[in-house]
Amino acid sequence: MIGTLSPSRAGDFMTCPLLYRFRVIDQIPEKPSRAAVRGTVVHSVLERLFDLPAPGRTVGAALDLLEPEWDRLLAEEPAYTDLFETEEELRGWLTEARGMLERYFTMEDPRRLEPSQRELYVEAVLDSGLLLRGYVDRLDVAPSGDVRVVDYKTGSAPSREFEAKALFQMRFYALVLWRLHGRVPRLLQLMYLGNGEIVRYSPDEADLRATERKVEALWEAIRRALDTGEWRARRSRLCDWCDHQEICPEWGGTPPPIPERLPSLTQPNRSSRRPVVADAAG
Ligand code: SF4
Repeated sequence: MIGTLSPSRAGDFMTCPLLYRFRVIDQIPEKPSRAAVRGTVVHSVLERLFDLPAPGRTVGAALDLLEPEWDRLLAEEPAYTDLFETEEELRGWLTEARGMLERYFTMEDPRRLEPSQRELYVEAVLDSGLLLRGYVDRLDVAPSGDVRVVDYKTGSAPSREFEAKALFQMRFYALVLWRLHGRVPRLLQLMYLGNGEIVRYSPDEADLRATERKVEALWEAIRRALDTGEWRARRSRLCDWCDHQEICPEWGGTPPPIPERLPSLTQPNRSSRRPVVADAAG
């Protein structure tokens, strides 16, 4: 194995190589944001919803799961309490999460679905030795064997530019699944719970070969940055969601020296569920 790449970290490098460096090489902690934590709790409710027998997967049942899931997350990460200064702020945030769950039920009927997998960790090694890995929100498998890859987004459907990034993430998963099982997923489905839009895409082998070439080229660019120590800052409107402006040259800051001991880039990084900056914008 020559290295490891997840769609989130690949997305970071495409957004801004310096952001990738801060997250992967320097491993600088980031503050959780309300939007990211809301995404986590909504994902968690939708995952648990399918533990219920099909007839019980109703709006009311999903809403009933919200506060227990929030309490469970808080027990795991007590620092999340600092996200809210007042009880009113917390109530408002929970109301937004409820709105997303209600919107989900306008997009599909979970009583008519039996997902094959939820929160599935997948990995596959390419011929070059590069390990691709990530978590798929949901996999549906039809009786014909056709596979649908589903990803929930708690933002609204993005502009064309950012939609391409979201679809790259889905193609990345499709490539991993194709390499794992030898079958191209029939459909990639992005569900935007912020505005109720669904983006669907049917990949083919040519798409996935192109994705593989893109992923390999990205990895080469990361290796070059590692060798030269040059991690270019790329300013964009996503900087508004970046935690590292104070140490970013694009914003008048100075990055810390690159650590002498570089982390191994061949080990799975369990922080891969951390939302990418683009997600926060979506
Ligand atoms: S502030 Fe913008 S340019 Fe700087 S590291 Fe973050 S994303 Fe990159």
